[in-house]
Amino acid sequence: MELKVEKSRRKTLLLTVDRDGTPVVRTPLSASAEEIARFVKKHERWLARRIAERRSAPITVLGDGASVTLFGETYTLSTGRSGIRAGVLTLPAENRERAFVRLLKKLTAEKMGALTASLAAQYGFSYSAVRVSSARGRWGSCSAKGTISYTFRIALVPPSLAYYVAVHELCHTRRLDHSPAFWREVESILPDARSARKALRGYGYLMNEFL
Ligand SMILES: [Zn+2]
Repeated sequence: MELKVEKSRRKTLLLTVDRDGTPVVRTPLSASAEEIARFVKKHERWLARRIAERRSAPITVLGDGASVTLFGETYTLSTGRSGIRAGVLTLPAENRERAFVRLLKKLTAEKMGALTASLAAQYGFSYSAVRVSSARGRWGSCSAKGTISYTFRIALVPPSLAYYVAVHELCHTRRLDHSPAFWREVESILPDARSARKALRGYGYLMNEFL
């Protein structure tokens, strides 16, 4: 197993896993090779679990040439001024993740804003506003005042699932609960809502990305 060792003036050893799944151990300048090996060995199981988690999450690497699918459109990553154009998503060399999140938020506001508006017009819902959040526990929410929020992470799920979330939140403008009547409402628009809801669980790992 490849292991990166970073020595610095720190006092204790610390084990982490890079975004690409490489284990990194940060050590004091005085740490010996044996000491490091012993430390890593002791945390072997934790490390294996973290590496597996990292590698099973498909979009953790934001390097040039990586591809990322947002609202069903696939883009190739490259370095430049933050932006999206025909099949290419550019991010600055520094603070890539922060710039990426900023782009996702903008895109989510546009796409989910338009989707929510068109569904509302089609099915006669009224809501007060659409907002974008960094929520990690849920894909969307709807307040008693009719403000619908979507987490920017929704940009990374297939469009059919984002569609389900929009329908779900719009139905909350009529019923704030998850009663059978609420689900009947959802299913009257999207008969397949149940399977969309289940499929969405497969994207739960996105809630632990981009913190
Ligand atoms: Zn709900």
